[in-house]
Amino acid sequence: MAYGERGRHVPVVDLADRRALERYRPADPAVVEEARRLKEAALLDFGLTESAVASWLYAKCHHQIPTTAVETAAVVASGDGTCLLLYNPDFFVGIGLSGVKFVLFHEARHLVHRHLFADPDLRADPVFTLATEVSINHVALVRLGTRGLPLLDGRPTGVDPRAVHELYHADLMTHGRDPLPYEQFVETDMRVYGELKRMRHPPVPEQRLCAHLLADGVPADQETVDLVASSALLNSLLAARRGHAGAERELLDLMGRSEDGNAHASRLWGRLGAGVLRGETTSTRTVDWWQRWFVDVLGSRLREGERLVYPKKRGALLAALGQDPMLSRRGPVREKSVVIALDTSASMPQHVIRWVTDLVGRIDGVQAHWLSFDGAVMPFKPGERVYGGGGTSFQVVADYVEGRTEVNGRRFEESADAVVMLTDGYAPTITPAEPDKWIWLITEGGDEWPERYTPAMACHRVSTGTRT
Ligand SMILES: [Zn+2]
Repeated sequence: MAYGERGRHVPVVDLADRRALERYRPADPAVVEEARRLKEAALLDFGLTESAVASWLYAKCHHQIPTTAVETAAVVASGDGTCLLLYNPDFFVGIGLSGVKFVLFHEARHLVHRHLFADPDLRADPVFTLATEVSINHVALVRLGTRGLPLLDGRPTGVDPRAVHELYHADLMTHGRDPLPYEQFVETDMRVYGELKRMRHPPVPEQRLCAHLLADGVPADQETVDLVASSALLNSLLAARRGHAGAERELLDLMGRSEDGNAHASRLWGRLGAGVLRGETTSTRTVDWWQRWFVDVLGSRLREGERLVYPKKRGALLAALGQDPMLSRRGPVREKSVVIALDTSASMPQHVIRWVTDLVGRIDGVQAHWLSFDGAVMPFKPGERVYGGGGTSFQVVADYVEGRTEVNGRRFEESADAVVMLTDGYAPTITPAEPDKWIWLITEGGDEWPERYTPAMACHRVSTGTRT
């Protein structure tokens, strides 16, 4: 997925091979340094204000490599579940900071788009490819507030959404059909595609504009794309629920653009629990509802110490000192600690456990501690078999989590930010030291006493009628 690629059609080295990339025709060290500075400054702006999604996505590209093996920039998703960001240092210095932001946003959006629009038939259609470019660049222009496409040597690079709209307008007028005005034309991603398909002669995307327009031009296996993009979306959603207004607006906009005419995207958003952003309390998808509730309530428990928002002055200072703001962001903020306690006497369905495991596993900066319990507490790792014995006690979990008892000769030394109880609720009630941190998921037919209790605790019934 390389932005504005010109001329070169076949990558000169294997774009997933880090060593080969670093070896290939190194650029002038001063240019490399300046390009790196521009890239860091752009990512810093994303994290602070402009795109939480792009910020999280690049936080997952652990290797960010300046290389002349690509002409522009590309996000490579390949094989082992990792992403690489490749950028040509001369190109970045040539287009300057606002251009770099535009290109990095464009590339991040490609990955998210590929995740939300996975239909192979669509992807094989060159008109869809062009529609993607139009959509992405339209959103980039609006979100980043730039007047036009990045300029390289005074010439705009990339697909201009307004120019494509003009071609569309002229084509439809010539053939006696009613074209939509620009604002309606670009309203959703499928709208752009559907309208371009109404043209008698849809424009053919010029291959020189993007390496990802070529089949096999840039490695991007769907599994890695799904993994990285869904994780970036989840973390953006949690950030939104922790009060990051920019993340909330961006996700609402992204949902609105992608759901229209795209059942696959609707399902992905539903599974993510993103409906909470719209205040949806629909009872039609009961399984989704407790999941949305859980994402929401867990997000609020992890509120303090938001990783994406930190003092702008400090960020700017670090950037000026040439330090890596991505690292500085990870450093001083304490990891969040979440305890998930599984009642072995309750018959919690396996797919519920899998869903919670997967969700918690994808939250960045969270350390998960898994416990099973009946009359005693037993730590376990996800996937291990848990054994149940006799009697059930919630107090044994509270005693352990609050540091009063040892398990296998060790005390729980951390302060948990959230304690998630998966249980049928049948055992003597307890009053934890910090009831605000406790979240109870109750099986069907179980007892929801925690929400009637004083103090009341976050509590929701898990409906298990539908598998997700
Ligand atoms: Zn592109």
